[in-house]
Amino acid sequence: MIQFDAREAERQAALDRYAILDTAPEQAFDDIVRLAAMLCDVPAAAISFIDRDRLWFKASVGIDQQQIARAGSVCEHAIEAPRATCVIEDLAMHREFARRRRLYGKRPRFYAGVPLLSPEGHPLGVVSVGDTVPRTLTEQQIDGLRLLARQVQHLIELRRYMLEQGRLLDERDAVARRAEHARDALQRRHDDLEYAATHDTLTGLLNRAGLARFRAHPETQRQIAESPYVLAVLDIDHFKQINDRQGHLFGDRTLAAVADAVSRSVRTTDVTARYGGEEFLVVLPNTRLDGGAEIAERIRAQVEALKLPVPVTVSVGIADGTARDTPEEVFERADQALYRAKKGGRNRVVADDTPR
Ligand code: GH3
Ligand code: MG
Ligand code: MG
Repeated sequence: MIQFDAREAERQAALDRYAILDTAPEQAFDDIVRLAAMLCDVPAAAISFIDRDRLWFKASVGIDQQQIARAGSVCEHAIEAPRATCVIEDLAMHREFARRRRLYGKRPRFYAGVPLLSPEGHPLGVVSVGDTVPRTLTEQQIDGLRLLARQVQHLIELRRYMLEQGRLLDERDAVARRAEHARDALQRRHDDLEYAATHDTLTGLLNRAGLARFRAHPETQRQIAESPYVLAVLDIDHFKQINDRQGHLFGDRTLAAVADAVSRSVRTTDVTARYGGEEFLVVLPNTRLDGGAEIAERIRAQVEALKLPVPVTVSVGIADGTARDTPEEVFERADQALYRAKKGGRNRVVADDTPR
């Protein structure tokens, strides 16, 4: 008995793998029951599957129920003798099956059924025909029924194969999606790290590493080769005093406010960096010295106009460069101009005037 239960559990699991129970009607199955009825010249035919406690019809003719109780159904012969075709010419005359005459609404007398087997040999259901009067089937008709049952087996195997393929495709998609997410997360992390490595946390401007990257970028090289540029070097005036008198925290806030004023004064194509403690650097591509002086003056005025608890000013030195100059030379000239701005009284812009 225990052995039977284990076998029945395996059988049910095999049936469940087809996922066919309670599915919508399908032409291929409907065609087969019509053929079965025609072949045997009977009013009723069905493709049924034997579920836990019911017989469920995937397709039928001459039967007006979608399912019937399994207990006592004639089709149970498939479980008892899975490899045998069952033909009962008159159910009324049959002691065993007289009890099981529930299959057809109109008092069935004749029944024939071929079990549907899984490749491992589990009986899953039955292709059956029935009539309200007793009858016999020819060998040819019985053979035909067996052929039809084999066709149903092919159909359900195909169905299981397609389900499996669909599942594998879904799985592959899920794996691909997971890989894509991982790649995105890695890219984001890389971008974050790169941003952190190239930007100053206090002001959000490029730091020295960011500036070096900018210099090395092919687009920057191309621009320098094509048109002159201006480099502005800014230094906050008497910043040490501000720090000493107002505290380091206020000094930090001042740095951020000045950086903001600088960014607001330049074009988006200009590049601003925090070069040192309270020193900033602005690269103005495609700009000549007089145009650069105007922008530098705008920056100076914006900083002076900042509404901070103590007045803050910057001194600016500017120099122009072309493809012929090394960036170091241009920086040196701008720095010299800054030095003169400091010496001249601070809070001013001085342009490089070395003869070239
Ligand atoms: P000058 O007008 O000649 O430029 O005078 P200065 O006081 O601005 O120049 P100095 O180079 O003597 O002082 C710069 C000060 O900037 C010294 C340093 O403590 C301060 N500093 C540098 N980095 C930071 C920073 O990140 N935060 C703060 N709060 N202070 C900084
Ligand atoms: Mg300084
Ligand atoms: Mg300074």
